[in-house]
Amino acid sequence: MVIKKAEILGYCMGVRRAVETAELACRENPDKKIFTLGPLIHNNSALEVLAEKGVNVLKEDASDLAADAENSVVIVRAHGVPPLVMQNLKSRGVTVIDATCPRVLSSQKRAADYARRGYTVFLAGDKNHGEVVGISGYARASGADCIVIEHKEDAAAVTHVPEKSVLLSQTTISRSEYDAIAAVLKAKNDALVVLNTICPATDERQNALIELCKNVDGILVIGGRHSANTKRLLRTAQDLCAHAALIETAEEIPQEFFALERIGLTAGASTPDFVIDSVEDALLEHGHKI
Ligand code: SF4
Repeated sequence: MVIKKAEILGYCMGVRRAVETAELACRENPDKKIFTLGPLIHNNSALEVLAEKGVNVLKEDASDLAADAENSVVIVRAHGVPPLVMQNLKSRGVTVIDATCPRVLSSQKRAADYARRGYTVFLAGDKNHGEVVGISGYARASGADCIVIEHKEDAAAVTHVPEKSVLLSQTTISRSEYDAIAAVLKAKNDALVVLNTICPATDERQNALIELCKNVDGILVIGGRHSANTKRLLRTAQDLCAHAALIETAEEIPQEFFALERIGLTAGASTPDFVIDSVEDALLEHGHKI
């Protein structure tokens, strides 16, 4: 058996940074309670390890933070939060560590800048996703109307695109979905400014997977079943490879894969290295790597 890993797989920069920030906070604050606003990462194995290190999970708006929480550390995850949540935390006297991904910070700033200049902000993405809640919070706090567009059908239902309007997206939206939404809104008013705020991390993992599929008999996609970018990797693998499966842990490797000659591995942007290694080790027990 030959095992090949995609050139780019696993943790993206923002997630790795957030996890390392939480681990450092635990080491540096042994006397304090450590919290994250919502789960730090869409991966159960990684969350279990963080919980063992003392990381507790609060609701995304911190509404369940105890009244006597002054001696606590609260970590803002890579998705970021609306400015009001940040202000509330600071007024409660807790230590806030901001692990918002720099790419998301940039989207928050751009949304706020356009809002201050009187633009209506259209934001393409999942309206319940923390990143979208955060960015729209920045636009609204800066005085703009912020309209969240989930699909091109929502864009089609928009009745008016003002002369001063800007469109930006959740960093992980698919390029084709974003282009379709932009085309529908542009057809209503060509003056719409369309920003490119898509993070390359998703495309990089997709492109590396497409290359990998040319040289293997089956693909194992390692990652959380609720992770959008992991599910998108699975769809690509299913399109391009005869055998494809999504697994969260090594225990879930389907039996058929042990009979394949060449197995490719990829992993979503929130899959920790130790889970990828454990899958590789389990396969290596049945063959050897080149
Ligand atoms: S996917 Fe991109 S924007 Fe999102 S956390 Fe990772 S690096 Fe940051």
